[in-house]
Amino acid sequence: MSWDATILTLYPEMFPGPLGLSLAGRALAEGIWSLETVQIRDFAADRHRSVDDTPAGGGAGMVMRADVLAASIDHVLAKRPGAPLLAMTPRGRLLDQDLVRALAGGPGVSILCGRFEGMDERLFEARPVVPVSVGDYVLSGGEPGALALLDACVRLLPGVMGAASSGEEESFESGLLEYPHYTRPVEWEGRRIPEVLRSGDHARIAAWRAERARADTRSRRPDLVERHRDARRPPPSGAQRGQESDET
Ligand code: SAH
Repeated sequence: MSWDATILTLYPEMFPGPLGLSLAGRALAEGIWSLETVQIRDFAADRHRSVDDTPAGGGAGMVMRADVLAASIDHVLAKRPGAPLLAMTPRGRLLDQDLVRALAGGPGVSILCGRFEGMDERLFEARPVVPVSVGDYVLSGGEPGALALLDACVRLLPGVMGAASSGEEESFESGLLEYPHYTRPVEWEGRRIPEVLRSGDHARIAAWRAERARADTRSRRPDLVERHRDARRPPPSGAQRGQESDET
């Protein structure tokens, strides 16, 4: 059984795009995962096949119509009732490795890609759509976000990554950034690979890596250190999680 992705988009030509190459491309050819696109415009009911209209309340740009989006979603939900349905939007929950792991462990995913100023908000009330953001910046469309999400999921599917263990020590899997990597030549532009990595002493290497992961995360991503600490600290008995983090 393959992991099945369905993309609702105005630009189906963007898929599989970069996911047709390398690791994901090979897995796609082998049938480990499948990809189907749905053209949102096919669900427009009027003569001009319009999918958008001017924003209520005024302002720049156009808004994707709820009725057209809902028709395309209903088509996908009928075909793939078991797969979670996500919508790409900067207003969504941030995509992280926890969500990626959960999605990769399921039957697949359906992803609605926005364009223009975004989607009519009533869609999110009327359909079981989970709004997801790929980061605190604005893309011109949801498609590059969907490609990033799929790439992150596909590499976790059984049989996709070369070394089975290489997913486990990576950035975010432990809640921290991963330690830095080095390879030959031993000396390059006067810089040497840290001596400990060439010592053959596995315990020392592991300790060095753990320390570098902590130090680099502290200096580059203090937000991750906070979360890592909160996740490991048992909540004081009787105290509520939300209140505790409000105090810190
Ligand atoms: N006016 C909107 C941005 C619209 S960008 C706002 O300020 O919130 C057009 C489309 O690109 C969006 O509908 C969404 O599908 C996609 N998009 C843009 N930035 C994104 C992000 N950070 N994460 C996920 N999708 C994004």
